[in-house]
Parts: sequence; C-alpha cells; structure tokens
Amino acid sequence: MLGSGSAGNSALVATDHCKILIDGGLSARQIVLRLEQCGVMPEQLDGVLLTHEHGDHVCGLEVLCRKFAVPIYANAQTAEAVRCDGTLDRHRNWRIFRTGAEFKICDILVQTFPVPHDAVDPVGFAFYAGAGGLGFITDLGYATKMIVERLRQVIEELLPGKIDRVVLGHLSRDCNTPALALQTIRDALSKSGKIDIELFCATQSDISPRFRIGETEVGAFQPTFENAFFPAA
Ligand SMILES: [Zn+2]
Repeated sequence: MLGSGSAGNSALVATDHCKILIDGGLSARQIVLRLEQCGVMPEQLDGVLLTHEHGDHVCGLEVLCRKFAVPIYANAQTAEAVRCDGTLDRHRNWRIFRTGAEFKICDILVQTFPVPHDAVDPVGFAFYAGAGGLGFITDLGYATKMIVERLRQVIEELLPGKIDRVVLGHLSRDCNTPALALQTIRDALSKSGKIDIELFCATQSDISPRFRIGETEVGAFQPTFENAFFPAA
C-alpha cells in the first residue's frame, strides 16, 4: 500500500514481470516518491487500474500520466466520469473493461467485480499470478457501521478458502483509528475460529511493508499481447 486514507489512496501490485498501480489518489509527486521507495520507476508501470472516479482515488493521475504514458484500465462509466471531470481528458492510453470481466496484464490475471459504493460503476479486483492470489476491495458501503459489517461479511465469506493476511485501508481520519479497525476485524475473525490470519492496517502517510504472496513462476515470461483486445476509449 503506497498510502491509504480519507486523503488519498494508491497501491502497487507487482510480480517479477509486471507492475500495476491500483488507483492514483496521492499527488503525482508522492506516487513517484513512494514507488521509488519500492524500487519501482514510474516508467516501469504496466498499467493503472481504477476502482472508481472519486478524487481520493484519481487526483494524482493527470500529472503522472502527462509525464508517463501509462495505460489506464477502467470500466467505461468510470473512464467517462474521470474524463468529464477535465482530469485526463487528453490521456490517450485507455484500456476499457466491462465490470465482471477478467483479463491479463502481463503475467497477472485480473478479475473485476462490482462493489456497493456511491460512484458510477465502482469495482473491486482479484489478482492471480503463479500460485498466489490477492483480493482488493475499497470504499465498501457508506456508514462506518455498515463498512464494518460489510468487511466482516466479506472476510468471513472468504474464510473457507485460504486467507493468510488481511490488510485494512482507507480509514476515516475522524471516525476511526487503526487500533479500533484492527480490533473489530480481529474479534470477527476469532469468532470464526481464525486466529492465524495476519492483520495489518495501511496508513496515509507511509508506504506499508511489502507483502509477499506466493512465488512468481520462474523462467522467462512470454508476453501474451492480450492488451490488443482492449478497445480505446
Ligand atoms: Zn469513493
């Protein structure tokens, strides 16, 4: 997590072959600085994936994409909302997906699904590469209580599968604290007998530790050129 909270959100998902930014809600300067701390140059990015059009998820992209021609992956409504805003209306490199679709960016399989939020067509993502998988869900629900409920539900529904780690993010500055959020989730997990799941809370001001998931498949990676199937916006 490059940074997460009411004031801006951005995360990096990477394999040996592929680097994807999820949302760009920090200033372009901060995105570049924090990518650098992860050892990634912005020109190495294979794409930016957008969850939805709100400013705290896209505000750094205009400047970032003016300097670096990074492809932006979004569904049509989100792309339109961001462009209507005047942000990124001159950006040429859009890759439009249908919500619910799955596609590959280099060696990462990306699944998309709708989430309830007051945006035009907000989505969550599941990422798969090698033997590892990662779910990314942001801005669920409206009221704090509902967010807690939904998080609890989401996480509990996934429990029959194998979850090693839960990273919490986008905490409200005014009505939440990392300690409260962590305890709420810890309580919900232990009620379901899950005490071996690693919990972490991402913050606004600092990048999180690097979370390692599985192993990237060894050997040279052959690009699939599936990006060619994305229509231009
Ligand atoms: Zn939002």
